[in-house]
Amino acid sequence: MKFDLAYCLSLDDKLSIYDVRDLNFDETVAFDSTKEHFQCPNNACRAAFDASNELGTFNAKNVNYVRTPHFKNLPGTQHVAGCPYVSVKTSASGVEAADGETDDGREEHFPSELLLTRREYVRKPAAPAGAADVLRDDPVRVAATPSKESPSRDTAPDKTSVFAHPVECFVSNFADRDLLKRMPLKIGEHTAPYSSFFKKIEYLMDNKGLIYWGRIKKIEDFHSASFRIDFEDKVWFKKPDDSKKKPYPVSVYLNKKLIDNYRKRKAFLEEIKHAIDSDKELFCFFYGVTPELKQVPGKKNPEKPFEVFNANIENLDHFIIREAPGLA
Ligand SMILES: [Zn+2]
Repeated sequence: MKFDLAYCLSLDDKLSIYDVRDLNFDETVAFDSTKEHFQCPNNACRAAFDASNELGTFNAKNVNYVRTPHFKNLPGTQHVAGCPYVSVKTSASGVEAADGETDDGREEHFPSELLLTRREYVRKPAAPAGAADVLRDDPVRVAATPSKESPSRDTAPDKTSVFAHPVECFVSNFADRDLLKRMPLKIGEHTAPYSSFFKKIEYLMDNKGLIYWGRIKKIEDFHSASFRIDFEDKVWFKKPDDSKKKPYPVSVYLNKKLIDNYRKRKAFLEEIKHAIDSDKELFCFFYGVTPELKQVPGKKNPEKPFEVFNANIENLDHFIIREAPGLA
């Protein structure tokens, strides 16, 4: 049984596994999921047991994961009868696989919206809170709260502020085109099915402001201070003076300041260095910028400029390099 959410005791809030990963790698907060306590997200079920009735995590701290991260039952985890998180497979067979792994790897919980404002967490005192808790435990009322007024409170389970979550939905369900066509995704003012919100890099001229993705050809490492990602596929584009379309390479650039100021700098550097050393096929996903045709000085002959679709990444929270075996 994979859990989309778990209750985190110290934060007194329900988190997705992607929230947990984000917190684990965030150098500005003290959080380590191996020291935290996670419990069933169903309030009634959680209340029926003491605090030792916990859930486990899968791929919560692995920077470079391939299999879908999730919460899972531990061998002794109990649920009340009727809890929606009781594993159907477990109760039917009476046993669960040794590692608690009974599902295939797909991410089944599609966020309908990627919130561009990062979720904030407040460690609450142990004393029971009042009305605020009641409000938060009522997902309908929380969802009805306009996000512009209180983005940090907008924690309805179908929304996320962690880019890796919709990316995992897309990657792990890539073979199921119909599903990706059915599921809607909203970012900012734009809503589209997952299948069209994720745009292959060679078609970036089709529409601005999407999540672009493509196979990485090369990562240029400038003394581990800045990086350039070159994509395998080219954009076919016809300039006004040309008679027909010509192929142009695509790349994105990550500058030193961006990396130095990133709250998940260590994890990011681990991710990109692992990618540079990897012999696996790797893919890059990013949101927030659209590469445009630019002239850059040629490497061999600076007099002869080189034309490339290029963009500077502006927010590393919306940038991922990863393996994605199904996309190869
Ligand atoms: Zn439960």
